[in-house]
Amino acid sequence: MENKKKVISKIAIVILILVILGISGIVIYDRATVNNEYSINEANLQIPIFVYHNIVEDASQIEYDYMQTTKDTFEKQIKGLKDFGYNFITYDQLQKYKNNEIKLKKKSCIVTFDDGLEGVYKNAYPIAQKYNIPFTMFVIINSMEKEGCITWNEAKEMQDSGLVTIASHSMDHPEFTKLPVNEAVENVNNSYKSIEDNLGNQTIKIFTYPYGLNTEEQRIALKENGYIQNLTDNKINKSKQLDLYGLHRCYPLSDSIYKMILKIYYRSIRYN
Ligand SMILES: [Zn+2]
Repeated sequence: MENKKKVISKIAIVILILVILGISGIVIYDRATVNNEYSINEANLQIPIFVYHNIVEDASQIEYDYMQTTKDTFEKQIKGLKDFGYNFITYDQLQKYKNNEIKLKKKSCIVTFDDGLEGVYKNAYPIAQKYNIPFTMFVIINSMEKEGCITWNEAKEMQDSGLVTIASHSMDHPEFTKLPVNEAVENVNNSYKSIEDNLGNQTIKIFTYPYGLNTEEQRIALKENGYIQNLTDNKINKSKQLDLYGLHRCYPLSDSIYKMILKIYYRSIRYN
């Protein structure tokens, strides 16, 4: 009986040592290769696109965890992603990577904000400047200048910083599944006309479907009109299936950095 216990404890110690060695190996390998760059054909990278809405002062302003994030949590997530070796890229870089014009670092991600809310200018933009990370804001044209939303002057100021891309989240945030294709295209075309009237010519046109709702016909029509398109489906983009006309985005919510990282890996396995 005693001998059996000793054998079991020895096996347990060996397993524990193997697990520790395994994890250490993964961490050492990860650190050693974090600055490696790959073309789209060289490695199947995970490229999460994070979707936030508003960044608020404190927890008392959180009504829904997918709609509001405190500036403290947002900063922790950005700093945490940087510490984990994430490189923050733009849609322009993503498109060039897809076209095999540039390589991306092993861990690359994109930060986005939907709805054009004022807290992004007040609370997220200073943090983006502090950590020198780019982000994209999807604005609702008819909400611009209204209470709680950014103004065109603020949009221009952020764009001029070189860190921020202002892109379209439609004219008026309709459910696109209820729109005929021609109206959907007209809505997005009009929104980009307004963006360019206010902010000048845009080198890249990016659209995010309100509520993530769309039809296949709309996606094809908007693709023909040159729009990169975003969904909001909590999935993670991977190089091999990278589709600029149906990009996946996931919610970081108010997760700790460890939970965020685990979710990226979990979703990469679960949904691809
Ligand atoms: Zn929205």
